Amino acid sequence: MNDKAMHKISYGLFVCTAAKDGKANGCIINTAIQAASVPNCITIAVSKANYTHDIIMETKVCNVSVISTNAGFDLFKRFGFASGRDTDKFADFPETSYRLAENGIPYITESTNAYFSLKVISTADLGSHTLFICEPTEMEVLSDAPSCTYEHYLKEIKPKPQAVGKTKEGKTIWVCSICGYEWEGDELPDDFICPVCKHPKADFEKYTVNR
Ligand code: FE
Repeated sequence: MNDKAMHKISYGLFVCTAAKDGKANGCIINTAIQAASVPNCITIAVSKANYTHDIIMETKVCNVSVISTNAGFDLFKRFGFASGRDTDKFADFPETSYRLAENGIPYITESTNAYFSLKVISTADLGSHTLFICEPTEMEVLSDAPSCTYEHYLKEIKPKPQAVGKTKEGKTIWVCSICGYEWEGDELPDDFICPVCKHPKADFEKYTVNR
């Protein structure tokens, strides 16, 4: 089996937002799809490591904003590289960058081209992620900018990793190919999860060029 086949599947990128006790949170997902048309059905898969996941489990509502190619790395940093358990992702987010939908949850208006309000009608436990099967209750087009694909993010938005290798002490450096987080040590543990973007060991690359 060649795991690299997984990299050939194309994805969009989205900000998934949810709210509980008056506090909003959001995370980046690449797994929103229209799964059926009659009735209209959207599924999203959200990592259990995300605080947003727990809020959706509890409240059964969320919004999905479709990221456009206008997005900069800052949007991904804000929603993808921090946890809502210990930060308020909306605290210093300009009020012009989001709006409240009818369900009371923010959707992102900065560098997005559409949003959906979703009501969860069913869930499936997939191990690392929960699949939320949802009915859209609201949807709007926000701009004509093209949608940002995962491929576009990797090629155009994600900062290029520096040429790094072994540390002065001779340890190997592993770099998260998703967010650039660096980990030092000979071999990553099999159950390693990136502390920044929550991606698994498979998304880490070994750098062998000396610093
Ligand atoms: Fe990462």
